[in-house]
Amino acid sequence: MRILVLGGTTEASELARLLADDRRFATTLSLAGRTISPRPQPLPTRIGGFGGIVGLQAWLADHAIDAVIDATHPYADQMSRHAVAACQALALPLASIRRAEWQRQDGDHWIEVGTPQAAADALGKDPARVFLSLGRLELEAFAAAPQHHYVARTIDPPGDIALPPDIRFVFDRGPFDDAKERAFLAQERIGFVVSKNSGGAATYPKIAAARRLGVPVVMIARPAKPHGVALDSAGAALPWLEAQLAHRSTSRRSV
Ligand code: NAP
Repeated sequence: MRILVLGGTTEASELARLLADDRRFATTLSLAGRTISPRPQPLPTRIGGFGGIVGLQAWLADHAIDAVIDATHPYADQMSRHAVAACQALALPLASIRRAEWQRQDGDHWIEVGTPQAAADALGKDPARVFLSLGRLELEAFAAAPQHHYVARTIDPPGDIALPPDIRFVFDRGPFDDAKERAFLAQERIGFVVSKNSGGAATYPKIAAARRLGVPVVMIARPAKPHGVALDSAGAALPWLEAQLAHRSTSRRSV
């Protein structure tokens, strides 16, 4: 059975490891190409956009894909929308790994906003020291709030985008560590953390550190993300794929 996994997440990498030596499935992993040096993967990997719904549909048909697993990031809503539309058009089974959101704990001071622009507004008029834990493309919104000092943590340099004048970059990728995140926020004298509600353990330590230090978190809400059959983990994808395989064998026998 030929599988496409839409990736870019911890769950996609976990699923890649689970499927790598499984000869029942010929799996391709697809990455958007957002990071310059993605972690090596144990599966054949293609990188870059498909060219919208039509491009994805063509790719799925050309590669005779039998099932798709959407393991994209909770904020990658466009890719998910395209996956739902293309799979519907081709009548392909689609399952989506949906990562649970972080929930507010006692002691958290979250300011919930809808967009990066609203996050920049929520920092207020007075100059503050702000930790931006965001993707490269979301940083542009903070050019509109130039009064603050920013420390931005990204995987790669930001490239040619508009940025606020007082910004320093720290290049790193998760998983992060509780004690180090606490030390980092304290050393940098951070007054606000700006984050997406990504969920999962790898990037949660900054949220726990902010709680411990009494630092407010400007939390950018998740977009609505269309999905296929909802799965809660990479491990849950395997029984789903096995069910698709069994269904295929049954329908072939009955033809
Ligand atoms: P998006 O807005 O859903 O996707 C934009 C376009 O990128 C898609 O239409 C598609 O291009 C291409 N694309 C996205 N995921 C792909 C994949 N797995 N394989 C092939 N092409 C893919 O997603 P995004 O722009 O990547 O990211 C949106 C948000 O998610 C940001 O907040 C970002 O920080 C966060 N995020 C993304 C990733 C990631 O790996 N993409 C990882 C961590 C966080 P075509 O229309 O040309 O097919």
